[in-house]
Amino acid sequence: MIYCCKTHVEQGLDDIVDKHEAVPIFENVPEEKELLLCEYCTNTAEYKISAG
Ligand SMILES: [Zn+2]
Repeated sequence: MIYCCKTHVEQGLDDIVDKHEAVPIFENVPEEKELLLCEYCTNTAEYKISAG
């Protein structure tokens, strides 16, 4: 599972596909978890991407 900001959505999708060879599932980060950070930079994560 990857948390990422808007800027790194495509990178996150690519990483999930590369690592898991599965269809990525793409969700908004719930408001109560909005202090999570992007895996690729220091922005607040807005999306959660997991392997389907
Ligand atoms: Zn980012």
